[in-house]
Amino acid sequence: MASTDLMDKIVSLCKRRGFIFQSSEIYGGLANSWDYGPLGVELKNNVKQAWWKRNVHGRDDMVGLDAAIFMHPNTWKASGHLDTFNDMMVDCKDCNKRLREDHIEDNTCPDCGSSNFTEARPFNLMLDSYLGPVRDESGRTYLRPETAQGIFVNFKNILDSTSRKLPFGVAQIGKSFRNEVTAGNFTFRQREFEQMEIEYFCHPDQADKFFEEWIENRFQWYKDLGIRTENLQLRKHEDDELAHYAKGCTDVEYKFPFGWSELEGIAHRSDFDLKQHSQHSGKELIYRDPFTNEVFTPYVIEPSGGVDRGMLAFLVDAYHEEEVDGKPRTVLKLHKDLVPTKVAVLPLLKKNTEVVELCQKIKNDLIKDMTCTYNDTAAIGKLYRRQDEVGTFYCVTVDVDSLEDNQVTVRDRDSMAQERVALDQLKQYLRNKFED
Ligand code: ATP
Repeated sequence: MASTDLMDKIVSLCKRRGFIFQSSEIYGGLANSWDYGPLGVELKNNVKQAWWKRNVHGRDDMVGLDAAIFMHPNTWKASGHLDTFNDMMVDCKDCNKRLREDHIEDNTCPDCGSSNFTEARPFNLMLDSYLGPVRDESGRTYLRPETAQGIFVNFKNILDSTSRKLPFGVAQIGKSFRNEVTAGNFTFRQREFEQMEIEYFCHPDQADKFFEEWIENRFQWYKDLGIRTENLQLRKHEDDELAHYAKGCTDVEYKFPFGWSELEGIAHRSDFDLKQHSQHSGKELIYRDPFTNEVFTPYVIEPSGGVDRGMLAFLVDAYHEEEVDGKPRTVLKLHKDLVPTKVAVLPLLKKNTEVVELCQKIKNDLIKDMTCTYNDTAAIGKLYRRQDEVGTFYCVTVDVDSLEDNQVTVRDRDSMAQERVALDQLKQYLRNKFED
């Protein structure tokens, strides 16, 4: 399938089935802003939950944080974002298109083909706002362009309140905002997006080791959640690409239909941030080793991923078109931990009230344990196809025999194999499948 076709199909599926809508569509839409619909929000929450489970609850050296989006403006002076968080921008003199200089290929405007550009000039990516009743400089503040700084400014609070010993990490998921010059590629590059970030604090001598470990961990997470290995790669940044704070950086990239692109960056930030905040705030942000009494500023490894980009990669990778018995089938082969709906309960005969009642009873019981839906809007073949298209892991079908033998048919999304399961064992049967 041509890559543009694949992207078009995914965008269309996302809209048709309620994963992702254009923001404020009834007003003509707002460019590069997207709303997550009923199935989209489930998938997105599952991505975040899988990340939290692996990185916070699944380890004893991590804690969580949820810091405010608005921070003291000095934060951004200290972090370097006010002075250096710039993209170099040019305008095409022939069609007035504004472009990021590093996104131009072969010195050619992608809209009109011209090579007649203005001089490149820096463009700060931070979005600002004014807090308080008077709109003047004293109330000027910024919507955070990354969640990371919320962690650094809370380093001392976390250390004091948890008595953590190094090494330990702090994880946070939240919205970030960047006034991207060229947004686009569906949800890949937006001005408002969500990040999943970790700051892992350690002794400087151990930073290189943890840097390598985190690169491996984060690469593995995408694989464990079903992304095909051939569609993932690691890319080490060249020295001249490194951000102002980084000693090293490696990206996890996914082979999107529009090319290999960054899902997540793992950066070795040394002691840059803690030292900067210490200097600008006048507060000591240091660590005293309780065993050796050594006092030092911890080094930091930062795995920083995008929720929206991750979700887009999971969607793209899961999208399959197959032919079954001469008929096309579209199936989202999402990992069981990510699927928006785990089980659909379907009646073979929607006109039989006893069958429908049994379906409702089963759904009401299962829904306490797993995401579950009932649907009777078409014949069974079509109902299966509709559930396949949104990745529902199992379909439970109730027929007239079920009324007699107290068994239902459980259909597996990927193999399409069907199995009769006794009603009183159904919940445990499904639980076992999801716990595998
Ligand atoms: P890019 O080079 O694509 O602009 P970046 O290197 O500036 O990304 P980081 O600052 O490393 O990105 O941010 C960490 C993660 O946050 C990225 O890997 C990405 O998943 C996500 N992210 C960054 N900018 C955006 C955006 N505009 N829209 C959606 N996700 C984003």
